[in-house]
Amino acid sequence: MSSTIIYNANILSFHNGFNNSSCDTITIEGDRIKAVGRWDDLKSLVQANTVVIDAGGKTLMPGFNDSHIHIWKVGNLDTFMLDVRSAGSLDEMLEMISAYNRQNPDVAWITARGFNEAGWKAGRMPDKNDLDKVVKHKPVYVIRTCAHIAVCNSKAIELCDISSNTPVPDGGVMYLGADGKPNGVFSETALGLVSKHIPPYTKDELKIMIKAARQRLYSNGITAATDPAVDPLLLQAFYEMNAAGELGFRLNAIPILLPDGGEAPYPLPVYYSSPWFNVNTVKFFSDGGLSGKTAALKRHYKNSSDLGVLRLQKQQYLELGRAAMEIGLGLATHAIGDAAIKFVVDCYTSLAGSFPGVLKRIEHLGLPEEQHLEAMAKNNIATSMQTIFISELGKNFRQYLDQEYIDRCYPVGSVLKHGILTALSSDAPVVSNLNPLKGVEAAVTRRDNEGFEIAPNEAISVAEALKAYTVSAATIGQTPQLGSLEPGQLADFIILNQNPLKTEPKELSQIKVEQTFIGGKCVYGG
Ligand SMILES: [Zn+2]
Repeated sequence: MSSTIIYNANILSFHNGFNNSSCDTITIEGDRIKAVGRWDDLKSLVQANTVVIDAGGKTLMPGFNDSHIHIWKVGNLDTFMLDVRSAGSLDEMLEMISAYNRQNPDVAWITARGFNEAGWKAGRMPDKNDLDKVVKHKPVYVIRTCAHIAVCNSKAIELCDISSNTPVPDGGVMYLGADGKPNGVFSETALGLVSKHIPPYTKDELKIMIKAARQRLYSNGITAATDPAVDPLLLQAFYEMNAAGELGFRLNAIPILLPDGGEAPYPLPVYYSSPWFNVNTVKFFSDGGLSGKTAALKRHYKNSSDLGVLRLQKQQYLELGRAAMEIGLGLATHAIGDAAIKFVVDCYTSLAGSFPGVLKRIEHLGLPEEQHLEAMAKNNIATSMQTIFISELGKNFRQYLDQEYIDRCYPVGSVLKHGILTALSSDAPVVSNLNPLKGVEAAVTRRDNEGFEIAPNEAISVAEALKAYTVSAATIGQTPQLGSLEPGQLADFIILNQNPLKTEPKELSQIKVEQTFIGGKCVYGG
């Protein structure tokens, strides 16, 4: 069996807290950790074939675990879909689409994702007339950063045979221009009017996207990730990659049960557990997002009568949830607005008596109230939250939420004070920067990218944020063999150029991941 020993490291083992400065050496045998301790005590383990590495005094810690990241969509933006998240204005986005059109003459549909008009000078949604200026003869479909709104050009409207007479599905909007005709903008379920005409990705294309995303995970020090919205074809792609030994990172897949568009539920997945791949939870969506005003609120959005959308039928949700829990599958439900959180907490509470030990998690948890947190603590309800939203979507929150809501937005401090199991995550590609250290920085500074503070009282410490990205993420993923560095654990760890516990909070995201190890093998750097 291969053996490696890394010495002269500042080891944050996350085993029994963080004060592990006395450990400078880690030994690995095969894909597992054998020992963590002092060089003087462990050097006797060195044998002729042991690989001995000097870490140069750098910080070595468990690999990050992103507990909510849409892996294939991250990879899609590096492969089949144009990434417009960096567009700082409408003109910039149009220029990117125009260049992409010139460089990809064989693409039948131009698909792009990521604009966020809240940061643009024009400050308005793009429409078909804007897109027509750069691409006329080919359909173009551009998804907003939130994925709940999209805009297409006139050619796409024509190909999809959409007119002002087209029936709009429940829970969706087709926007009309001053001339009474569709202006190219669609939201929620109405996205299906266009998207169903775009040729679906094949399983092989999904695999290409997953492999592309993997490189981004490695370079950000992410060794484990949870994909929280997996449809049957994607699940099959994951299974096949795992069987072929091609995953290359620890993956927890959470299948969805209810497809968009009101069709029949997908069949329940089979519980699966292995070192590389796990299926132990199913996913529901109870509302939309704050950045596009679709999260379900008790009070309306700022300067608007919108209350967002509640998407679940209680009866069906409870029935499907119960069926999943009966075969040992946990539940993960997307809930951001206070109205949606109340709905989910009530449903989970009613299930808790029959299934006390089965995982119940709330994804995002944007605007919980005190009473929701109390009920979560009492009923063992866990959460995966995204402090990284504060940095990238803070401008949207300030635009769409009143001060009372802003002051308790993504209240990680309060959630931790209630003793709720809390993991942090990126939800990429909703945000473009999936660097966990950026999420840690935002959790500590509570500042958005424009420098504004969002609910500063909810700040947590660097150690708490790191724990949420490692140990707690492993716990909520039900993968206890990950998350800490101690004998018997899988040898997934990273080497950083700086110790995050001794870094200025506002500089945390500048820390560089120098090397990423998974199962004892270096997969990035070095
Ligand atoms: Zn998500």
